[in-house]
Amino acid sequence: MDMNTKSLSMIMAAMVFCVSCDNNTCLRMRKYLEGIKVIDTHEHQRQPGEFHFYRHLSYFHADVQTAGAPANIDSMIKITPHVDSLWRVYGEYINDGRATSYYDEWIRGFQLCYGLDKPYLSREDVSHLSLQMEEKYKNYPAWFNECFSRFNFQIMFLDPYWNQFNVAIDTVHFALVFRIDSAITGVVNAATTREITTPSLLNLLNKKEAIDVSSLDRYLEVMDTVLKIFVRHRVVCLKNALAYHRSISFSDVDNSTAEKIYASGIISETAKKQLEDFMFHWFIKKSIQYHLPVQIHTGYLAGLNGKLDDSHPMQLLPLIRQYPEACFVLFHGGYPWTGDFIVLGKEFPNVMLDMVWLCQLSRTAAIRTLHEILDAVPYNKICWGGDVTYIEQAVGSLSLAREVVATVLAERIEKGWLTEEVARDIGRKIFRENAIRIYRLEEKYGIKK
Ligand SMILES: [Zn+2]
Repeated sequence: MDMNTKSLSMIMAAMVFCVSCDNNTCLRMRKYLEGIKVIDTHEHQRQPGEFHFYRHLSYFHADVQTAGAPANIDSMIKITPHVDSLWRVYGEYINDGRATSYYDEWIRGFQLCYGLDKPYLSREDVSHLSLQMEEKYKNYPAWFNECFSRFNFQIMFLDPYWNQFNVAIDTVHFALVFRIDSAITGVVNAATTREITTPSLLNLLNKKEAIDVSSLDRYLEVMDTVLKIFVRHRVVCLKNALAYHRSISFSDVDNSTAEKIYASGIISETAKKQLEDFMFHWFIKKSIQYHLPVQIHTGYLAGLNGKLDDSHPMQLLPLIRQYPEACFVLFHGGYPWTGDFIVLGKEFPNVMLDMVWLCQLSRTAAIRTLHEILDAVPYNKICWGGDVTYIEQAVGSLSLAREVVATVLAERIEKGWLTEEVARDIGRKIFRENAIRIYRLEEKYGIKK
C-alpha cells in the first residue's frame, strides 16, 4: 500500500470503533466539526524521553492506580521493563477501567493514529502497539507534525509548566503561554534570600549572576521585565494552576502590607499566602495593561493528590468582581462543580468558559455541561483545549471532544432548539473562532477566522 492508501485505511479502520454518534444528524455534525481547523487553547506537549509504552497511559494512569495497580509505573518499568510482563501487573486494572472517559481518550489516540481496529486493548495489542509507537518515536517531531496536520490542528497553546520562564518555543505548532505559578510563588523565596538564582529565569534575563531583589519593588521590576519579554515573544495569555499547591481564593493584600512582609524576611504560612495573593493581583493588573486573558485551573486536580477542596470555582468570585476589565478564562468546567462554573460565565462579561480536559474527566458531565452552557450562556464565550503531553493523546482528546460537541448539537437540533446553521456556528466558535477573538490571534499570529 502507498502511504496515502495506508493512512486512509487506518483512518477507516479506526472510524469503525470511534463512531459513537448513533444518528445521521450527529454524524453530519461530527463530520462538519472534523473540517474545522482547531485552535487548542491548552496543551503540555513535550519532547519524549526514552520510549516505553507504559509511560504513555496518559490520564488513564490515574484510573489504573485508583483501581488498585502499583502507583509508581517508572519503578515497575525498572523492575520489569518487558511490556508482556507488565501486562500481568496492570492488565486486570486496565480492563477494569475500560468504561472510563480517560480510557476513551487513550484508546481513541491509538485507533486514530495507529489504526488499532478494536474497542479495547489486549496483552497482544499492547505488545504490537508498543512496537509501532517505538518506531514512530524514533523521529517524534516528524510523527508529531504528521498527526498534527492529519487531525486538523492549527495551533496549540503551550503551557510549559516544567520550564515556566522559557520563551524559545516552536511557533509553527505552538503559541506561547506564560505560566505564572513560579513567578508568584518565587516571591516567598526572594523575600527570604533577597536574590533570584533560578537558572531558567537568569537565562531569560541574560544574567550570569544572581539578581538582587532586596525590596519587593525590585522583585516587581524584575517580573515586569519578564512579562515584557513574554509580550515581545507574542504571549497569548497568563496561566495560573496554583490550585495544585494552595487554595484559589486570592485576597486583596495592599502594597504596604506586602512590602512589610517582604522586608521582614520572616515568612509564616499566613504571610506566604498573603505575598502570593498580592503577586497574583499584581499579575491581573498587568494582564489588563497588556490585554492578556488569564487562564485559571478550577475543579478536580490531576494525579490523585487528595486535594479536592481548594479549587472550587466560586472562590474566584471576589477577584472576578474586582477586575471587570480583566479577562478570566475558567478551566475544566470546574468539575465536579460545573453549575458554579457555568453561572460565573452567565453572570460576568469578563468570564470565559473553557471545556478543556472536561471531556476526558467525564463524557457525560461534558455533554450535560455543554447543554447547560448553551441554555444559560451566549456561545461566544466557550473554548476547548486538550491538556495532554503527547500527540496521540491530543488526537484522542480532540476526537472525544468532537464527539461530545456533535452529540450535544445533534440532540438540540432534533429537539428543535437549534437550526443546523446555528449549530455549525457554535461548533466553529468552540473549536476556533472564540479563541481567535479572545486571545487576539489575528494580531499576534496572523490567524484569521
Ligand atoms: Zn493543564
